Amino acid sequence: MQKILNYINGELVEPNSKKWIDNIDPATGDVYSLIPDSDSSDIDSAARAAKDAFPAWANTSNEERYRVLNKLVELIKENADELALAESIDNGKPLKLAQKVDIPRAWQNFEFFATGIMHFASESHNMQAANTINYTLRQPIGVVGCISPWNLPLYLFTWKIAPAIAAGNCVVAKPSEVTPMTAYLLSELAIKAGLPKGVLNIVHGLGHKVGDSITRNPEIKAISFTGGTKTGEAIASIAAPMFKKLSLELGGKNPNLVFADCDYKKALSTSVMSSFANQGQICLCGSRIYIEESIYEKFKEDFVAKVNKLKVGNPLDSDSNLGAVVSKDHQEKVLSYIDLAVEEGGTILTGGKKLELDGECKNGYFIAPTVIEGLDNNCRIQQEEIFGPVVTLTPFKNEEHALELANSSQYGLSSTIWTQDLNRANRIANKIDAGIVWVNCWLHRDLRTPFGGVKNSGVGREGGFEVFKFFTEPKNVCIQWS
Ligand code: NDP
Repeated sequence: MQKILNYINGELVEPNSKKWIDNIDPATGDVYSLIPDSDSSDIDSAARAAKDAFPAWANTSNEERYRVLNKLVELIKENADELALAESIDNGKPLKLAQKVDIPRAWQNFEFFATGIMHFASESHNMQAANTINYTLRQPIGVVGCISPWNLPLYLFTWKIAPAIAAGNCVVAKPSEVTPMTAYLLSELAIKAGLPKGVLNIVHGLGHKVGDSITRNPEIKAISFTGGTKTGEAIASIAAPMFKKLSLELGGKNPNLVFADCDYKKALSTSVMSSFANQGQICLCGSRIYIEESIYEKFKEDFVAKVNKLKVGNPLDSDSNLGAVVSKDHQEKVLSYIDLAVEEGGTILTGGKKLELDGECKNGYFIAPTVIEGLDNNCRIQQEEIFGPVVTLTPFKNEEHALELANSSQYGLSSTIWTQDLNRANRIANKIDAGIVWVNCWLHRDLRTPFGGVKNSGVGREGGFEVFKFFTEPKNVCIQWS
């Protein structure tokens, strides 16, 4: 059985405990590799290695960091097929999605931030009358912790570690224990790329052990976390009294507002995608669809018809639109929400059940894409993050009502507005509680833009220069001349 190894101080090593956790292929239910069951002693070694590596790495030129990271870009591209297959098997997502989205984004993250650091500049403030000038030094923080989730494994893992390393920090990182394989393959590529030892350390294992140890380790000065809101709360409660810098990208329950004057065909087909891409397991999926009353019945009928054409199948088959959800636990959680929807008075328009496929996927964790209507906006199904292939349809009367429904949520990550009225789009974009607003599109991502949410969807922003601000410490230098 293949063993995934930790990557500490430039070497691939077993966990100190010599204990292992089963890694399950969600499409078959089979154990197919073993994950290190690491603990705080592995994190201590990783943090020490990162601390030792930091002075030299912080002193390398931006051009040298670019050179090494760009070598990694080349290696990810060369190994893209192997990485995409590994991602699909580990996560259950369709292989074609991993090939088209996940793996290209992994190398693009390194390329973007390795280039970006060469353009990152800081301010100066001139006090002419006082013969004084201030300038801001932006210095790397030191050792930083990066903790990422299972839904877009390598995509989100590299989204954090690439800017951290490019800015001159050394990293202790933990991918989700549910999907560790591509982070392991990345550590092999980092060695090949010649990344100096200790600059990147990857420790695998359980969140409450490894993730918790990263949060508590006193050598780790900043935590960049993406995951659930409850986990973010736990991390903040430990890290805040230690005065660690914190970036928290948390859960969402994103509204998708469809107005009668929209480009109907585009709104319909993109809404199917924004509901069910990656089995609905993207933090940016629009899980609450609000539709203007006058087109509600037509949209509902057309939407359900389109959803019924989606094929749930073996993730490795090129015609599968949806693969397996990530784990048995997650399958059970999503199904329990579907039961709750019925208890709360909802009507299942399609789906609403687990699927048992034939052949090698017969024990896999599949769920039919599910559409529900008839729920009060305040019920749990409309308010809690399900993070699976489940959406609700709700009619609205007018713009004000749509905004009220959209904003009645503890979350505020992203939102989508479908209308041809530019004035209305701008009015809503201005007032909606969301870190990201898409108008007549979904998931168009320019890596220069600020990325993150408001309310319980998080604190801080990633992307562009925002993330370099997070991964550096500003220092004001004030000079007076005579
Ligand atoms: P979790 O919060 O369960 O886990 C995220 C990461 O944190 C994993 O690596 C996990 O390890 C680790 N972890 C778990 N417990 C702790 C702890 N006590 N201390 C430190 N680390 C811990 O989220 P999921 O992996 O289930 O991911 C789904 C969630 O992520 C959803 O809520 C989704 O909305 C959110 N998300 C947000 C995004 C955003 O940009 N805002 C983007 C993508 C997802 P392990 O897996 O081993 O338990």
